[in-house]
Amino acid sequence: MKFKAPVVKNETYTGTVTDLTYQGMGVIKIDKYPIFVDNTLPGEEIHFRVIKVSKTYAFGKPINWIKTSPDRVEVKDKQYTQTGIAPLQHLAYPAQLKFKQHQIEELLQKEHLEIPVLDTIGMETPYHYRNKAQVPVRELHGTVETGFYKRGSHNVVPIEDYYIQDPKLDEAIIVLRDIIRKYHIKPYDEATKKGIVRTVMVRRGYYSHEMMVVLVTNGKKLPIKEQLVEDIRAALPEVKSIFQNINAEDTNVLLGRENRKLWGADTIEDQLLGLDFAISPSSFYQVNPQQTEKLYASAIEQAGLTGNETVIDAYSGIGTISLAMASHAKKVYGVEVVSSAVQDAKLNAAKNGIENAEFVVEKAEIQMKKWAEDGLDPDVLVVDPPRKGLAPEFIEATGEMKPKKIVYVSCNPATLVRDITLLKDQGYNVNQPIQPVDQFPQTTHIESITVLSR
Ligand code: SAH
Repeated sequence: MKFKAPVVKNETYTGTVTDLTYQGMGVIKIDKYPIFVDNTLPGEEIHFRVIKVSKTYAFGKPINWIKTSPDRVEVKDKQYTQTGIAPLQHLAYPAQLKFKQHQIEELLQKEHLEIPVLDTIGMETPYHYRNKAQVPVRELHGTVETGFYKRGSHNVVPIEDYYIQDPKLDEAIIVLRDIIRKYHIKPYDEATKKGIVRTVMVRRGYYSHEMMVVLVTNGKKLPIKEQLVEDIRAALPEVKSIFQNINAEDTNVLLGRENRKLWGADTIEDQLLGLDFAISPSSFYQVNPQQTEKLYASAIEQAGLTGNETVIDAYSGIGTISLAMASHAKKVYGVEVVSSAVQDAKLNAAKNGIENAEFVVEKAEIQMKKWAEDGLDPDVLVVDPPRKGLAPEFIEATGEMKPKKIVYVSCNPATLVRDITLLKDQGYNVNQPIQPVDQFPQTTHIESITVLSR
């Protein structure tokens, strides 16, 4: 039987939005067939045009609104939706917080897990928060541009105001773009794999105001380095460190393996919860410093430490959670796969006079097995994995080691819910509500803390 979608490309229809996907698109259903429409909200009735049809779903574009949602706010700039910089910009901030709470609830329900989810802890000023910019550099119509990829493509949309970044980073990106223009340094071309500068990354400490600039290049070659350094320092006095990162691979991964210091310090510093942290170019560092303090404070509180506990912090990065917990615990062990991040963590322990924290470079799933074999008997296990969640071997090792409590910091509720189910099989239950903390206002990303116990 030949399938026939109930809608036709380029035709217009009328419909009511019934749901919002995890990517922030409105859902309209015609005969149970879903059509995803950007910039629409549940309850809204719209005329829309169908722009793409596939077997199981279609995409539409709104033409006009018959009824709008009370949660709708004015769109700042439609490019923020197109590029995915701020896909929830049309949704009032309190409704964004509800949306995130609801996304976790829905995923739990699908797995028949009856776990309550608290209100999302939001941000007072939910924009201009990011402490890191990573921006592609491309040539468009003969001019060097910095901006953002149009969603689902690698076409750069030139942008100067990124809305969710520290405005000082926006300024720095313009300065760097203009320096690249001035010296006619060729931007990378994805089609020919030629050109020099691929990406510019800039970090700025929220408290320290120290800046690090990283020029990501398509190979070792970077002409007139001294001149570049001189110009960057003259235009951006907050810059404390300038690196070249070499990424010659045909990949979407932004940073390559090799960092070459062009000038200044090896790291920049910032503070979190009153502790000092050094951050090197390849280390992960939470992008929303104000919310990170709330996230960690909540994680520490939920860990219920009294000063006598042994803690494992898996996926420990530069040691932020480990060191924030160290003064509340007897001993903290951190494990992290990026060796420069572990170097930072060791330096950070020393910087803060913390002597009861130890860090190892290893894959968390391997180190957990080793620790289990060595008879390490932690009271609390903190995990803060990347989006793909915990490895099966990690969960197995946790089952062998049997820590009383697991504090799971998650940046992806889909893998969180999967892992809760797997940890249940190892004897763990969730007995307190999940706490979402909004680390990424205006976007669909969802961060949360879950406590599991035996
Ligand atoms: N807890 C830290 C870092 C969290 S981000 C903080 O809040 O700042 C996740 C970290 O996991 C990153 O530093 C990443 O390098 C690391 N990572 C990714 N895969 C890993 C693995 N298999 N084993 C150990 N660490 C890993």
